[in-house]
Amino acid sequence: MDVFASKSAQKQSEKMFAPAHRVTTWLRERFQCQHTEMSRPITRDGETYRACVRCGARRPFNLNAWTMKGSYYFKASPVDPVPTEGKARPQTSRPGEIKTAA
Ligand SMILES: [Zn+2]
Repeated sequence: MDVFASKSAQKQSEKMFAPAHRVTTWLRERFQCQHTEMSRPITRDGETYRACVRCGARRPFNLNAWTMKGSYYFKASPVDPVPTEGKARPQTSRPGEIKTAA
């Protein structure tokens, strides 16, 4: 009897969450980028890909077959390192600090 009770409870919870699942699926389909505008193939650092001009998602591109293959991915843009060697940061006043002439 416990098996039937747990199955009915599972069905009940599926009924409760099904509308929420449908809403999130609908929102995802409406507002997530569909990658319809892709750039020309770009080869950079030994990697050939096409990039979505809207969101920047990349997809591997096979130059021999001249087709995109594989799934979309995002690559973090490299951040310029902050120069720390040899350059001392100029002394600036802190917020709220009043400079006085010595
Ligand atoms: Zn996109």
